[in-house]
Amino acid sequence: MTTNSELFERSSRHIPGGVNSPVRAYGSVGGAPRFIESATGPYVSDAEGTEYVDLVASWGPALLGHAHPEVVAAVQRAAARGLSFGAPTAAEAELAEVISERVTAGGVSPVERVRLVSTGTEATMTAIRLARGVTGRDLLVKFAGHYHGHSDGLLAAAGSGLATLALPGSAGVTAATAAQTIVLPYNDRAAVESVFAEFGGQIAAVITEASAANMGVLPPEPGFNAFLAGTAHTHGALLILDEVLTGFRVGPAGWWGLENAAHPEHAYVPDIITFGKVVGGGMPLAALGGSARVMEHLAPLGPVYQAGTLSGNPLAVAAGLATLRLADASVYAAVDAAANTISTATSAALTEAGVAHRVQRAGSLFSFVFGERFVADAPRGYDEVQGQEAWRYPPFFHSLLADGVALPPSVFEAWFLTAAHDSTAIERVLAALPAAARAAATA
Ligand code: PMP
Repeated sequence: MTTNSELFERSSRHIPGGVNSPVRAYGSVGGAPRFIESATGPYVSDAEGTEYVDLVASWGPALLGHAHPEVVAAVQRAAARGLSFGAPTAAEAELAEVISERVTAGGVSPVERVRLVSTGTEATMTAIRLARGVTGRDLLVKFAGHYHGHSDGLLAAAGSGLATLALPGSAGVTAATAAQTIVLPYNDRAAVESVFAEFGGQIAAVITEASAANMGVLPPEPGFNAFLAGTAHTHGALLILDEVLTGFRVGPAGWWGLENAAHPEHAYVPDIITFGKVVGGGMPLAALGGSARVMEHLAPLGPVYQAGTLSGNPLAVAAGLATLRLADASVYAAVDAAANTISTATSAALTEAGVAHRVQRAGSLFSFVFGERFVADAPRGYDEVQGQEAWRYPPFFHSLLADGVALPPSVFEAWFLTAAHDSTAIERVLAALPAAARAAATA
């Protein structure tokens, strides 16, 4: 048997850091990452044959659990018909219809047209180019701690792996590009107003995670997204709502759908919405959508260029379609129930062990911030969550891992549940929590 450590050494000889995406490294928790052999339902199994209850879910896509038989069968059927054509297929039209139909409120969809791409990074990168093309303006507003993928203009003060590694941005981004991104504190209306007062005529778009979940989970204050839409529109700018992580995960119509239902008084219409993760059912597929007026600026109809050899790949589209067809109300109810049980039990175990913390929730997504000051007051932005007692997380993480539960290897990431987390899997997590909470307490 080859151990995880041996595989990590081998990988590291030819792959920088041994991983093909930095968040997979156990950079902030220490140790060799688990090399996964296979996954089924709520479980992943590593190269050493150890099975873990998986609370990463491929960082979001596995809404139904791993290797759902109907999704696998759909991909197998598609594979048998050919892997890639570089020509349109009927299934792409169908997936675009499904996305548009789902993201509808009161009979109106902000997604009249959809363009399929392969990664969330491409979706947000294209959304920004499109906003610039539509408005003829250069500046972009983003929020500290929000992660929108790794295109140049979006790496300033970004969450996810940059939060874990405490990087302010990325080397290799030109000063000229960085200067076109204005980074503001999240949930801070005055900051948004003042930047629009000063630069309103030059701002192409505001991009925001529908609910922030890449600095740990940190939902927008009620009405904040509607405020962003209103402010952007007053100044002739667009709102790009990034639902790569939340889309089709927190509900059938994503965070936008949840928010519209919970706060109809704060209804708003984003100009472009980006999707990823669940929409591809575990295959490389993402999308952007918007009104016909905006989206028809894209080539071949308009002057904003975007393309992809593998865009709308038939296997990826098959996985996405099968996943969305299966993701009905009962799936979301199951994911919500699993998230409730595990977040409540984790919080109780931490309290029992005397670890001051706060549960951060956005629909079925949740994470924990550690520190006395969060007990009374919820953090509103990146500065505050960066000041947490992050050192409590590595021993907590490793205690759970040793007991067969795989969490995201960073305190700045959301925990992901799936509809396959049944009572057996959940019980295994609950049984492991008290020891993990004690490890966090003595850290
Ligand atoms: N936007 C958000 C909100 C994300 O969470 C991510 C990935 N975690 C991305 C964009 C980038 O997606 P991808 O990793 O597929 O490029």
